[in-house]
Amino acid sequence: MPQLAQRVGRAKPSAIMVIAEKAKQLKAAGRDIISFSIGVPNFLPGEHVYAAAREALQHDSGQYGSNRGADVLLDAFLVHIEKLGFKGYGRANLSIGIGAKQLLYNLGEALLNEGEEICFAAPFWTTYRDIADILGAKANILHCGPEQNYKLTPAQLDGALARKPKVFLFNNPSNPTGMVYTRDEIAALAEVLVKYPETWIITDDIYNSMVFDGIGYHNFVHVKPELKDRLIFVDSVSKTYGMPGWRVGVIAAPENVAKAITTLNSNHITSLPEVITAAAVAAFSGPQDIPEAKCKEFAAKRDIVVNALRAIPGVVCPYPQGAFYAFPDISVAFGKSYQGVKINDDVELCAVLLEAVGVACVPGSAFGEPRAMRISYTCPTAQLQPGLERIQAFFAALT
Ligand code: PMP
Repeated sequence: MPQLAQRVGRAKPSAIMVIAEKAKQLKAAGRDIISFSIGVPNFLPGEHVYAAAREALQHDSGQYGSNRGADVLLDAFLVHIEKLGFKGYGRANLSIGIGAKQLLYNLGEALLNEGEEICFAAPFWTTYRDIADILGAKANILHCGPEQNYKLTPAQLDGALARKPKVFLFNNPSNPTGMVYTRDEIAALAEVLVKYPETWIITDDIYNSMVFDGIGYHNFVHVKPELKDRLIFVDSVSKTYGMPGWRVGVIAAPENVAKAITTLNSNHITSLPEVITAAAVAAFSGPQDIPEAKCKEFAAKRDIVVNALRAIPGVVCPYPQGAFYAFPDISVAFGKSYQGVKINDDVELCAVLLEAVGVACVPGSAFGEPRAMRISYTCPTAQLQPGLERIQAFFAALT
């Protein structure tokens, strides 16, 4: 029999999808399941986005488009990122992908040779490790536990960069923790970054519109503009505009990186469809009232979630200030039993929570932190309280 390539064996099925799939099956079998598992926004884009897509469909050329992205999209993105504080970028700094995920994979291909090192903090978004594994790069994972609020410290970053990794990958606000770095924290990390000019910096900031408590969204280039020569800002319409299925990601990067991604696009994907492009343009340049309203809604839900989790004795929940995730340390349950079933770790805990209690959460080990689990609170508010009460009852029943 012919064999599959080794890189496929290194890719693991997403733990998030495994839980989500199981939850779906149980629901289909008639069980009452509340899902806190999947990280997709619970809203749709504004009518102006659909109107732009319909209009584009009327005039669709049906042809291939630009490998870099259509000029209208690039121009709309330039205006959008200027408002986020990215100054002095032009079309030559940009390129597109089928969502941020494909762009991140392409960036890995563009920047990492086999065996070279990429470093990033744990807890991390699951795909980061998979990209490193598939590409045969070495992942240096910097553990940032709940005792440091899941945030990377300048000393940790300094230690990692002293090894001269090829790439430092940073995610703010964070999936899975919901943590957001303050301007001072970003400035302190940027101080370290300027010391190591041989390392590329990728900032995956696709949750930049969802920051609470007036902290604001900050990037290293805002405080150290000289980092612009080796920093790649990754953005997407998925979370900000409620458009995960439309699959549009954009980067702002040094020209040589944007050109490399454009060349890879010419081999991988060619271009984005015209209808999708028009929808993304409308999202970036249209009214921003939906993301703004959603941000407020998520902040209010965050309070409900954190208060409920902190009311459970022994559960530690660092305070998330962005995205739509909470990442409580639930290790107090390990070694205990629920209705006679022993719970040894996060995976077993999430399995019992789903099967016996009817709440789907994702085990923290999927994100490199086995003491925790991820709660995504995008579900309707009416489900939030009952779901949290089930979790509280589960912990109260442990023996
Ligand atoms: N980065 C992070 C941190 C994410 O959470 C996700 C999606 N869950 C992505 C990137 C990928 O986003 P997209 O839908 O644009 O591919």
